[in-house]
Amino acid sequence: MTGRVPPLAGAGLWQAVMAAAAGRCQCRGTCGTTHAKTDGRCDRVHNGYQTRHGGGRVRLLAAPADPAALLLPAHRVAALPKRELAAWCERCHDATRTRQTKQDITPAVEPDALF
Ligand SMILES: [Zn+2]
Ligand SMILES: [Zn+2]
Repeated sequence: MTGRVPPLAGAGLWQAVMAAAAGRCQCRGTCGTTHAKTDGRCDRVHNGYQTRHGGGRVRLLAAPADPAALLLPAHRVAALPKRELAAWCERCHDATRTRQTKQDITPAVEPDALF
């Protein structure tokens, strides 16, 4: 392996995670947004333009699918297999992480429970 390694996952793994996610954020409401208008799943796609939140291109991250695992140190995350990773847009990733930090004892509310 040469070149720079992305912070959370190696480039090959990142691409595999993005392919499995069809290049779309896999957040299903753990960030605190229900994403109700987009089938309960965040609709941000990698390299898509975002019309809000400052504009620019959306960058997706390969990070643990389990919100609680977002708090793991980077070297633990890097050791996770692909099936335990998901595509996250930065906004959902950061919001989910923040929520986990605040309520790491209380289990996350299932999106279904809101309806
Ligand atoms: Zn998202
Ligand atoms: Zn989200």
